[in-house]
Amino acid sequence: MTYQTIRGFRDILPPQSDAFSFIEKISREIFTLYGYREIRIPAVEYFELFIKSTGETTDIVQKEMYRFKDASGRDLALRPEGTPGVARAYINNNLSQTGLNGKYFYIADMFRAERPQAGRYRQFEQIGAENIGASSPYSDAESAAMLAEIFKRLGAENLRLEINSLGCPSCRPKYREKLISYLSSQKDLCSSCLQRLEKNPLRVLDCKIDGPKLTDFPSIELCGDCAVHHEKFKKCLSLSKVDFFENPKLVRGLDYYQRTVFELKTSSLGAQDAVAGGGRYDGLIKDMGGPASPAVGWALGADRAAMIIEKRWGEFEKKSNVFLVSADKERGDYCFSLAQFLRSENISCDFSDFSLSFKSQMRSADKSGALFAAIAGEDEEKNGEVSLKNLFSKEQKKVKKEELTEIIKRSL
Ligand code: AMP
Repeated sequence: MTYQTIRGFRDILPPQSDAFSFIEKISREIFTLYGYREIRIPAVEYFELFIKSTGETTDIVQKEMYRFKDASGRDLALRPEGTPGVARAYINNNLSQTGLNGKYFYIADMFRAERPQAGRYRQFEQIGAENIGASSPYSDAESAAMLAEIFKRLGAENLRLEINSLGCPSCRPKYREKLISYLSSQKDLCSSCLQRLEKNPLRVLDCKIDGPKLTDFPSIELCGDCAVHHEKFKKCLSLSKVDFFENPKLVRGLDYYQRTVFELKTSSLGAQDAVAGGGRYDGLIKDMGGPASPAVGWALGADRAAMIIEKRWGEFEKKSNVFLVSADKERGDYCFSLAQFLRSENISCDFSDFSLSFKSQMRSADKSGALFAAIAGEDEEKNGEVSLKNLFSKEQKKVKKEELTEIIKRSL
């Protein structure tokens, strides 16, 4: 019997794993430019945390949680998203009292028991950013522009930033009523939507199941403050030269959003078209027992980001610069020492097995894609030299060990 990965879980191999590293590196660079610092939160939390923050009526909590009891009977869950843990950490560690900004980013695996398909996994990586304590629309624009900047630097094409405002506790109740009465008049709502109708009518707009085409749904009438906020948000996106599209149907799947929401979509991934999403969650920290702290944030899916830059994966293939080859079995120690010497000089190198034949080692050298083979036999060892062969031009010459670093570095 051989072991298999569990359905929905996968191995990420080179060069795809290198694409993930690249995405993480670019993200870290941009986070630094924007004043964000890293936060690391646990993969396991009390289940209750997600009911309270992600929301009891959301698909994530109702259908997709990896929920389990540990040996002492505690009701726990693998995190399905990062915001609840960051919010909890913000409260537990009194981060509002540090006198510093509340900008945190995380790079972490999330777990959702969704139906697996292309671009949708049960363990996937999110890179997320939260700005807690920030109420102004400048912060919304800063957050969304930062997201757009990451994808721009990744070289991703065909992306579309969609935005909307969901209003606040003063303008939303009126909208809710209007929406419920409109939706109640619709025939053929799916069974989940019929359940959502009273508890969470906004989510009906987001239904992915074929139902009635909700084209003439009422749009939200924002209160004065929300309208000003939304206009400023859009203006600052324009100042950042970020293109955007207003989508009045964009509601995002979670309970905690207010005012600004946004989603970054791609046309190149079929049904799983969302690569990132976020928005403002002004009430969450207080609802969770913390100090009143307005906040805005987003999360991007690294797995999908890696897919949309698939054309670039070739760039991530890693090759050593030098491949060590021993001309005979006795030269192993000398070649091994040379390899360690080159590495100490920051020259990457590799070797196969010094006890194998010269021919077989040279075959591995050619296959490795290295620029040079560094070959040593009895003479070379005696004279403290190595025969350096350029595996592309096939040129070969003997060089002193002391000159090796300089000659190689000149050719790279
Ligand atoms: P969400 O907060 O659910 O909108 O998730 C943010 C981003 O995470 C999405 O835009 C996707 O790129 C990514 N994502 C969400 N769920 C999955 C999944 N099951 N597999 C892979 N990526 C996902």
